[in-house]
Amino acid sequence: MRKIIFAFLFWLLVSAALFAQEKSPAGSEPAYTPSLDINAMDKSAEPCVDFYQYSCGGWKKANPIPPDETSWSVYAKLYEDNLNFLRTILEDAARHPGQDAVTHKIGDFYGACIDQSEVERRGLSAVEPDLDAIARLRATREITPLLTRLQFAYGRTILFDQGSTQDPDNSEQQIAALDRGGLGLPDRDYYLKEDAKSRETRRRYLEHVRKVFRLMGETPASANQDAATVVRIETALAKAQLTRVERRDPYKLKHKMKVADLTRLAPEIRWEIYYQELHYPEFQIVNVAEPEYFRQVNQELSSEPLRNWKAYLRFHVVDSSSPYLSAKFADENFDFYLEYLRGAKQQQARWKRCVEWTDRDLGEALGQVYVKTVFSPELKAGTLDMVRRIEDSMGERIRELDWMSPETKQQALAKLAAIRNKIGYPDKWRDYSSVRIARDDFAGDVQRANEFERRRDINKVGQPVDHGEWDMSPPTVNAYYNDEMNDINFPAGVLQPPLYDAKMDDAPNYGDTGGTIGHELTHGFDDEGSQFDAHGNLRNWWTKDDRAKFDARTKCVEDQYAQYVAIDDIHVNSKLTLGEDVADLGGEILAYMAWKDATKDKQLEPIDGLTPDQRFFVGFAQWACSNDRDQDLRVRAATDPHSPPKYRINGVVVNMPDFSKAFSCKVGQPMVKPEDKVCKVW
Ligand SMILES: [Zn+2]
Repeated sequence: MRKIIFAFLFWLLVSAALFAQEKSPAGSEPAYTPSLDINAMDKSAEPCVDFYQYSCGGWKKANPIPPDETSWSVYAKLYEDNLNFLRTILEDAARHPGQDAVTHKIGDFYGACIDQSEVERRGLSAVEPDLDAIARLRATREITPLLTRLQFAYGRTILFDQGSTQDPDNSEQQIAALDRGGLGLPDRDYYLKEDAKSRETRRRYLEHVRKVFRLMGETPASANQDAATVVRIETALAKAQLTRVERRDPYKLKHKMKVADLTRLAPEIRWEIYYQELHYPEFQIVNVAEPEYFRQVNQELSSEPLRNWKAYLRFHVVDSSSPYLSAKFADENFDFYLEYLRGAKQQQARWKRCVEWTDRDLGEALGQVYVKTVFSPELKAGTLDMVRRIEDSMGERIRELDWMSPETKQQALAKLAAIRNKIGYPDKWRDYSSVRIARDDFAGDVQRANEFERRRDINKVGQPVDHGEWDMSPPTVNAYYNDEMNDINFPAGVLQPPLYDAKMDDAPNYGDTGGTIGHELTHGFDDEGSQFDAHGNLRNWWTKDDRAKFDARTKCVEDQYAQYVAIDDIHVNSKLTLGEDVADLGGEILAYMAWKDATKDKQLEPIDGLTPDQRFFVGFAQWACSNDRDQDLRVRAATDPHSPPKYRINGVVVNMPDFSKAFSCKVGQPMVKPEDKVCKVW
């Protein structure tokens, strides 16, 4: 089951599409780009008017979005460097299969993917046994075993999501879990909103579904009918789903019950059979995140005729597999999801998709080879030192807060002390030896890798929590906080230049990576994370009075971001982005404190015409340099819990008087708030 983690930035693997040109591999290690790039700035812009433009204007000009990208950024470029580097590893592994077992496996997976003619020859064959099973279904009341088979192979796109989760009341224990799923569009709102753009998107989606049925060989009439059916069922399902803002309330997602209760909730699914078929370990308790959704699933199962369910299942099996099938399926998938919905102009090169999929599906195998080259013990020690300094700053900050009572402070400090720091890569690597990878069956390989993950997830039910586990692979350029684990996680991929640059002065490093560390740390104390205690249990550790004061402070942030426009006339949904906005602000304040402390005995000099304080803030802003397509901004306005990059910088500095001082900004300028309007949470 997918866990709720608080990542530093929005991450859709499929969207991290890159250059179309077949560039030659980068060599034996990733390319070096320095942090704090003076050329990336726009010195003609006024820092007190638009600090983002001042710091990133040069970058934006010099880095147009490549045609197969939906957006382009410092983070995406670094990930591309990683992919280029991983490509050399994978091509070598694919050519020389006689190496160790791990290298052999990633080489076969990549080799199968890159073999386009075999992928073409295979067509739909990897999913045909499942399509046949759907065709053989004789009554909706017999759907349960089929559902388990399809969910095991294709996941949450088949009606709903299943697996394990941490018990919200006892975070050391894994329990069974059920959650919503079943939609082809990125969010329930796409089905329900009535504005012109949403209607257009629905028309295009209907057309996409119709095309997929046509590609499967259906007649035009039957494809029309089946597409209408799929969209109608999904719309009914979407209506019963919570909004993303509602899902930020962890109490709304906590509904622990027994299998007998499930049977009362959704009797059309035979739950005893369901769990037997999926070979769940014996268990007592299952958490159903959205019971209302399962009531709706039941309603639909009892009212839609068998023929319609067959259409729904057929579509989702093929649609979710399309990127790995022959070109006509992959192209249609690209046309709708990446070109129409997100604005990409062309497909990314095959090798890049293949590297990304290897990273996604066998990430801890590929990661072993990656960290050997890029992540030295010195780098680990350096970043760990920075983490400790930022945690110390957080402790100091909590002790100094003038609005919080001693009781709540004590609880907050206990939570801070309990946070686990995970840096670089896991101590124990995932063992993929049981995954069968065939050199001539790529779509089958993806299925088997997914099944391996689902089996691993299901087998956790009833087991104690493994605190060593990671939710991102080592080459990932991102970071996260997990509130049930109470841990912060920084993959090796995010601790590289230009984000963390051992060759640079401390100022931009603290501004950039220090701020990211502070961001993840602050997630433990944002409006959502603060509802979990030191052990990761959902338990209120606040006095009533302190909570009220805290809520008033986060409201200041919510009101500020609500004024920002994401795209067109769509404002930032600041109830959705609140946790990230609070983390952005808190993180940068902590980084600044920690930097001041780390350099208090050093004589810092201006470099390249920037004072040390200016270097801190420009270093901070330059993590976020990016160019974005309008289409992608629209999808993100509806789904991304982070504010657009520009506001992740300008929205922070307006609340930092140290920034105004560094650039001698005056009240009345856009980057300065009057003192009594400054938002202060942590
Ligand atoms: Zn975050």
